[in-house]
Amino acid sequence: MDAFPTLDGELIVGGLPLSRLAARVGQTPFYAYDRGLLGRRVAELRAALPAGIKLHYAMKANPMPALVGLMSTLVDGIDVASAGELRVALDAGADPQEISFAGPGKRDAELHQAVAAGILVNVESFRELAPLAQASQALGLPARVAVRVNPDFELRSSAMKMGGGPKPFGVDAEQVPELLTQIKRLGLNFEGFHIFAGSQNLKAEAIVEAQRQSFELALRLADSAPAPVRFLNLGGGFGIPYFPGETRLELAPVADNLAQLLTEAAHKLPQAELVIELGRYLVGEAGLYVCRVIDRKLSRGHTYLVTDGGLHHHLSASGNFGQVIRKNYPVAIGNRMDQPAGDTVSVVGPLCTPLDLLADRMALPEAQPGDLVVVFQSGAYGASASPRAFLSHPEVVEVLV
Ligand SMILES: *Cc1c(COP(=O)(O)O)cnc(C)c1O
Repeated sequence: MDAFPTLDGELIVGGLPLSRLAARVGQTPFYAYDRGLLGRRVAELRAALPAGIKLHYAMKANPMPALVGLMSTLVDGIDVASAGELRVALDAGADPQEISFAGPGKRDAELHQAVAAGILVNVESFRELAPLAQASQALGLPARVAVRVNPDFELRSSAMKMGGGPKPFGVDAEQVPELLTQIKRLGLNFEGFHIFAGSQNLKAEAIVEAQRQSFELALRLADSAPAPVRFLNLGGGFGIPYFPGETRLELAPVADNLAQLLTEAAHKLPQAELVIELGRYLVGEAGLYVCRVIDRKLSRGHTYLVTDGGLHHHLSASGNFGQVIRKNYPVAIGNRMDQPAGDTVSVVGPLCTPLDLLADRMALPEAQPGDLVVVFQSGAYGASASPRAFLSHPEVVEVLV
C-alpha cells in the first residue's frame, strides 16, 4: 500500500502513473508486479536473516513466468508443486540442483520428469517410492529424495494449517522411520527433510516455535536416516498484513531463532543446509490488481461501483479463497489518490453472483465510470488461484514492471 508512491493524485507503478500503465498494458483488468519491490523485499529479508539461511520461493504463490524468472535470480532455490510448475522454473533458468518438488498427488509421469530433471523430490507417500526407483533405473540417474514430514504439531494461529493431526500432506512423523528404511532398500538418494507446518502467520513467536519444533523433529528422525541430512527445509509461513488491524510480522525474533538453529545444526547435522520456503511474503505486497469502473449505481440508498474485474480474476480479494469471515483487502481509486474519502460504496464485479465483491462498504473518493480501482496485496494467489473461465469474460493480463 504505502510501498507504491503517488504523484499528482496518481499511483506510480513501476515508475509510471497508473493511467499511463493501463494505456501501455492496453486493457483492464490487469495485474502489475513491481520488480523494484520484489528485489527490495528479498534484500530486506536477507539483511534481517542470518547469512547461512537459504531462501526458496514457493512459486505456487505466483507462477507468472517472467516473475519466476526474476525471482530465480534473487533467491537460492524454487519450490514447485507440479510438473507444470517445474517446466516454468526450468525455463526461468533455475538450477535443477536447487529445485524441490512437493505435493500430495504426484503422478508417476511427474516423478519420472523430476528424476530426469535432476531435482529433489519431497516424498509425501510410500506410494511414490516405487515409481521413483523405476524412473531412476530407466533413466540411469539418481532419484534425489527428501521426506516431507507431517509433523506431530501445528503452526499456532495460522490461517491455513498444514500439519498436526491427520493430513493429506507429507508422511506422519511416526511412519517416517519405516519410509526411510524403504528409501534405503530401494537405493534412492536420501538428502533430507521437509517440514511445513502452516501458512499466513503474522506472529513471530508462533513461527519461532514451529521452526524450533521442526528442527527437533528432524534431529530425532535423522537417527533413522540412511545418509547424512544435507538439506533441512523448515517451511515458511511468514504472513503479510491484508486486513485492517493486522500488523507486520516481526523478523528479529525469527532471525535470532534461526541463528541459534544454525549453530546447533553445525554440531548435530554438520552437512545440512537450512532452508526456508516462502511464497506470499516474497511477492504478495509487490502486486496490484487493477480494474476499471464501468458503472456507478444507486440501489435503495447504497452505491455500487461496478467494475470490469472481480472474483473470476481475484478470488482471494472477493473473500472466497479460504477465508472464514470476509474482510476487505486494501482498495483505492488509483487515479484519485489525493482526494478525500467521500461516500461509502461497495465495489463489485460483472458476474451474476453476490459473491463477486471486491470491497464491501468502504469509504473511497467519489469514483466515476472510467476510474481505476486498485486492489493492493495482490501479488500472491491472484490470477492463478482464480476461476478465470467462470462467465467467459475477457482474460486478465499480467505484467512485470
Ligand atoms: C503453499 C506452500 C508454501 C507457500 O505458502 P505461502 O503462504 O505463500 O508462503 C510453502 N511451502 C509449501 C509446501 C506450500 O504448499
